[in-house]
Amino acid sequence: MLVLNQSYEPLSVCNTKKAFILILLGKADVVCADLKKTIRSVNHSYPWPSVIRLKKYVSLPYKQVILTRKNILKRDNYLCSYCGRGDLALTVDHVIPKALGGADTWENMVCACTKCNNAKGNKPLAEFELKLIQKPYVPNHILFIKNSVSKIDENWKPYLFVH
Ligand SMILES: [Zn+2]
Repeated sequence: MLVLNQSYEPLSVCNTKKAFILILLGKADVVCADLKKTIRSVNHSYPWPSVIRLKKYVSLPYKQVILTRKNILKRDNYLCSYCGRGDLALTVDHVIPKALGGADTWENMVCACTKCNNAKGNKPLAEFELKLIQKPYVPNHILFIKNSVSKIDENWKPYLFVH
């Protein structure tokens, strides 16, 4: 379930139960329903919400994704940033090693498999045989919505700006 702010900006993804409660409480409207499914009670059947919109604007001045190990892996799609593999144990690697003054930032931390991480050790990137597949970046919450679901619902696409 995609939750939109009153302004139609994507806010988050929630489960059907939570979305349905927001609708029943009159706090949200169904923007888009999944026509293949319905929610049934004893006497009624309700549209299955796919995209809902909050009736009241939620102000999120500091909507940042917190820098955690888990979120770094999530940003990098659980794939090693050096070899691209996702089938080995994953760790977080400092591109500029901490020993060389590398910081704990989104731009300096990437998901790396244990094999690459061990091979790279405390070497700077220039001395490591592999290159970064993509430059590490600060993610935003919309990207996280896209990455948190395995398949994006067709109904969500107009709101997430993906095609
Ligand atoms: Zn690797």
